[in-house]
Amino acid sequence: MGSSYIPVDDYDYLFKVVLLGDSGVGKTNLLSRVARNEFSHKSKPTIGVAFTCRSIQVDDEVAKAQIWDTSGVERYRGITSAYYRGTCGVLLVYDVTRHETFENVTKYWLKEVRDHADSSIVIMLVGNKADLSHLRDVTTEDAKAFAAEKENIYFMETSALESTNVVNAFTELVTKICHNRIVRPK
Ligand code: GDP
Repeated sequence: MGSSYIPVDDYDYLFKVVLLGDSGVGKTNLLSRVARNEFSHKSKPTIGVAFTCRSIQVDDEVAKAQIWDTSGVERYRGITSAYYRGTCGVLLVYDVTRHETFENVTKYWLKEVRDHADSSIVIMLVGNKADLSHLRDVTTEDAKAFAAEKENIYFMETSALESTNVVNAFTELVTKICHNRIVRPK
């Protein structure tokens, strides 16, 4: 068992994953790391919704995920239900140096997902900017405990800047989706 990145365009599964979380937590940079292994120090909100694809090997099958980023739309919150349509997984991101972004996961984003998405959806809670340890405002233990008491929520800390755990978080989410058979092979 296990999964690894393979740059192919032939696949057994195709499904949609969305990035959610407050503005500035690092969603755009997590996406560009997963897709192109790039990072940008400038925050440049994209207007509208961007998506990109990445294929990975899960066991002996190839899963291709279409990853959607709200890119600024989240500022207005209340993302339309069209955005969630057909979504199998969520990368739900907060910034470990800003406690309010974690509170918004618990107070706002999870409710929004539950209201709009299918109940079988798999969520990877991502504590990003883990490289900024001197500025840490959310403990690993608190986030881990929060995820552990919920069904279908997993947890990982990442650094898009240092490229730590970014692909792991995405790969684990995709693997859980495939193992749960939320999607059927094409
Ligand atoms: P978004 O609004 O959620 O899409 O966030 P962005 O990806 O635009 O990132 C917001 C800011 O945080 C930018 O200045 C990034 O350079 C910075 N940033 C993103 N990820 C990290 C990270 O892992 N570590 C550090 N130190 N900065 C990051």
